[in-house]
Amino acid sequence: MNALFPALRGRADRVALRFGAAPATAETLTYGELARAAGDLAVRLAGAARVAVWATPTARTAVAVVGALLAGVPVVPLNPRTGERELAHILADSEPVLLLAGAGDELPPTVTGLPRLDVPTRVESFTPVPAAVADGPGPVDPESTALIVYTSGTTGPPKGVLLSRRAVAASLDALAEAWSWTADDVLVHGLPLFHVHGLVLGILGPLRRGGEVRHLGAFSAEGVARELGSGGTMLFGVPTMYHRLADALPDDPALAGAMAGARLLVSGSAALPVHDHERIAAATGRTVVERYGMSETLMNTSVRPGGPPRPGTVGTPLPGVEVRLVEEDGSVLDASDGETVGEVQVRGPNLFSGYLNRPEATAEAFDGGPAGGWFRTGDMAVRESDGAIRLVGRKATDLIKSGGYKIGAGEIENALLDHPGVREAAVTGEPDPDLGERIVAWVVPADPSDPPADGELADHVARLLAPHKRPRTVRLLDELPRNDLGKVLKKRLPRG
Ligand code: ATP
Ligand code: MG
Repeated sequence: MNALFPALRGRADRVALRFGAAPATAETLTYGELARAAGDLAVRLAGAARVAVWATPTARTAVAVVGALLAGVPVVPLNPRTGERELAHILADSEPVLLLAGAGDELPPTVTGLPRLDVPTRVESFTPVPAAVADGPGPVDPESTALIVYTSGTTGPPKGVLLSRRAVAASLDALAEAWSWTADDVLVHGLPLFHVHGLVLGILGPLRRGGEVRHLGAFSAEGVARELGSGGTMLFGVPTMYHRLADALPDDPALAGAMAGARLLVSGSAALPVHDHERIAAATGRTVVERYGMSETLMNTSVRPGGPPRPGTVGTPLPGVEVRLVEEDGSVLDASDGETVGEVQVRGPNLFSGYLNRPEATAEAFDGGPAGGWFRTGDMAVRESDGAIRLVGRKATDLIKSGGYKIGAGEIENALLDHPGVREAAVTGEPDPDLGERIVAWVVPADPSDPPADGELADHVARLLAPHKRPRTVRLLDELPRNDLGKVLKKRLPRG
């Protein structure tokens, strides 16, 4: 447990990390080189209370995070594109003593007050790191904080989530078991490195297994085709990436061939519309595996590779994770009817230790307290007859109470996306004197010069789903407000 990265010792010549948009300009570090650079940093950081990392999509970010973890120093990854206000909030909340950056990084005024340490990715003259540092500083408490990750801020201001070494190791090992993830895997990665998806799954995951990461610098369909076509075995992406791949696939046989040959295509962070699942399956013969997690819980459920494809669901609980659905009156839902909605609650070794500086929010988030209790995710779901969990939306923004029904926005969004005239869709509820709430559809048309008629879209939804799920209002937009991971920010939709 102590050694988060057993592979750092003994895989000296294996490639650990490759970062860059093109092979000629990419930066590559072997396990030996990573161990040297991160080990050197660990010696310099030993004893620091907490450090922040300017998390650009570079090898340097990986070195900085691994170095701090080797030293047992908690890491706060910072989004380099965060606005001044949010950055100031995160720094004041997390109080790092040092900022780890790259020599070339230009930092905004908000962070320039913080002592800065430039992290080299190559350490030439080097004293070997004592084994105590290479394995973590002596017996590091597995309950000690490895990372403080800020939530995406989809439903409110970002909260600092304390993730222990135990939680990180447990969640990565559960994924490894469910996905048969090994040292032979080469991960193709195009996500930012300041959230759980890109950093914990995308960097710490392969390094814990002893495999390779190829980060594209910035996501592109060409990069995915090139890397999956030349040895990449897995792709981790968010729905907006798979949407772009689905758009590119019909005209790109190299991409289709590369994706068809991959061992595992994984999507998470937000719902992958069924329509995109279908387009990818049609072009590649492959099923995208969807998994569900969050900053506070790391990973909870996943569709199983090799099992039946379950588009629209997030599969079943990962090994060691317990999931229950709880109805509004507090009763635990037994039904597997694909209809009755409950809040997803989670228990297991993957859970966080609490929110930083927010004892009340921490207490409220658990039924039974943070030690061993059930975490209330705020996500709503139904259970299908085979046990698969289908998320229907978030309690805060996606559950519409209309005409006595509880309707999940996600289902209606999927139905809208199934219409050829719709490129993007988001569904919200607005107060209505008759219905309580009225279903409102926000639509980005496929062809802005010829958008589908409101009535046609509403009929389409009613026909596919049920009459009470018919949107009462359709509003056209040029684009939906989204964050860095492509999550739709419903609070930023224009007021109706
Ligand atoms: P905040 O908590 O600040 O409002 P956030 O919940 O978006 O932001 P994260 O922890 O990054 O912050 O995201 C977790 C959420 O992402 C989950 O609670 C869930 O709503 C959503 N999510 C993750 N994976 C999936 C998925 N496969 N399908 C649908 N939603 C998903
Ligand atoms: Mg959340």
